[in-house]
Amino acid sequence: MTQALWFDPSLMLIGGSWRPATGTLTLINPSDGTELAQIAAGQAADIDAAVAAANAARAGAWGRMSATERGRILSDIGRAVLARVDQLAEIEAHDVGKPLSQARADAVALARYMEFYGGAADKVMGETIPYLDGYTVYTLREPHGVTGHIVPWNYPMQIIGRSVGAALAMGNASVLKPAEEACLTALAFAHICAEAGLPDGALNVAPGRGPEAGAALAAHPGVQHISFTGSVRTGALVQQAAGANVVPVTLELGGKSPQLVFDDADIDAALPFLVNAGIQNAGQTCSASSRILVQRGVYENVRDRMAVAYGELTVGPAMDDLRVGPLISTRQKQIVEGFLNEGANLTIAAQGQMVVAPDTGAYVLPTLFDNVPPDHTLAREEIFGPVQVLIPFDTEDEAVTIANSTDYGLVASIWTANGARQMRLAKRLHAGQVFINNYGAGGGVELPFGGVGKSGHGREKGFEALYGFSTLKTVAAHHG
Ligand code: NAD
Repeated sequence: MTQALWFDPSLMLIGGSWRPATGTLTLINPSDGTELAQIAAGQAADIDAAVAAANAARAGAWGRMSATERGRILSDIGRAVLARVDQLAEIEAHDVGKPLSQARADAVALARYMEFYGGAADKVMGETIPYLDGYTVYTLREPHGVTGHIVPWNYPMQIIGRSVGAALAMGNASVLKPAEEACLTALAFAHICAEAGLPDGALNVAPGRGPEAGAALAAHPGVQHISFTGSVRTGALVQQAAGANVVPVTLELGGKSPQLVFDDADIDAALPFLVNAGIQNAGQTCSASSRILVQRGVYENVRDRMAVAYGELTVGPAMDDLRVGPLISTRQKQIVEGFLNEGANLTIAAQGQMVVAPDTGAYVLPTLFDNVPPDHTLAREEIFGPVQVLIPFDTEDEAVTIANSTDYGLVASIWTANGARQMRLAKRLHAGQVFINNYGAGGGVELPFGGVGKSGHGREKGFEALYGFSTLKTVAAHHG
């Protein structure tokens, strides 16, 4: 177990008290396959208790608290997270296998989310609406009530920050179900929130297996909003379960995000983004850029320079803080290796270098495929590993057709000096976020984020999330 843990990870937080769950599960360190910790594995009865505690918090001090006071507590939590950034980074590196500096960036982002939503809590306003003579009409933004948050293992701190931060800012009480593969920083965050003065029951954290704790939370009749990040298959199940209670759902389900590089692009500026956006967090990023579309005039230049950069990618244990760590699990490694086998008929442009024996942990070599047909499985399906495909194109229309040809639409970027093309393509690309001459995988606390198509629906991050985590009431007063 990591030395950085300052709390007992085998307990879950419900209504301000730390208690064991019905069952337990084992966390594995993906850097070396050793046991990291025994964790509480919540089941339906634990989720019932967590939802009841959240409802009690809504009816109590938390529900009556002013927006300013809520914001102050969230800002205090942000400062408390900053004070523990190094501990949080170490815990995450052990749990997720994320290289230490990438884990540290996630901890800083968690603090930033709490600062952002702390500052925003008392700035969400309704409006007055001109109506008939003798009426005054206005709108109120109100919390949904109890919000459920089902988060994955790839960016626990960032995803908790963006969804729980916005939900608490609006005065909801939350039940958080972290992923069974990685839940230590969710528990650490709960401790920090309690220490910073968040009232009991405003945040409840119940780790557990998806089909048990996750399914119970998604289907719970006492929950009024669900925020889910993860796979398309599970997202559809969650939406179905919440639908039975007519509860709104935000789904963030990943992507196959393209970067489009035109002949007139600044290749020096593009190169780090082209590579990093694919291999950050070993490619286990919903907004990873796994497709690099390059106009034929610069194709060979871009491929050769990316190949050099790939040759310098070192792969090893998270605490060694190399460019790429292990995948989250041997199961995820098998999934990614299955995709690599699908690419056996393709040409590999370059691979990274392993600095440990590959069988000591869940390691996969970063792999760049050359000249991949746009309809190949590797160019269409989300791999969730450090794998990128290069696809040549001739014309702008062809680039747009290829970019829009998958089921997903999360992020896209355009590398070109042509301003008119930048504006045209920003409109034509199917994506929730478009970057021009940059790429923002995972970044941008202030930037509304979410997808179209199978990437999901609803928006988190930025001010927009505050609308998603609240409901609008219209008040029409007739006074003559
Ligand atoms: P998953 O969607 O099954 O898990 C995500 C979360 O959902 C976890 O907390 C899990 O416990 C929970 N869950 C699982 N089954 C559930 C159910 N029936 N009801 C409610 N909650 C449930 O994802 P996974 O199995 O961990 O990973 C599989 C694939 O999903 C990956 O290979 C990757 O392609 C994709 N993925 C995407 C993201 C993303 O950020 N978009 C994150 C993780 C995984």
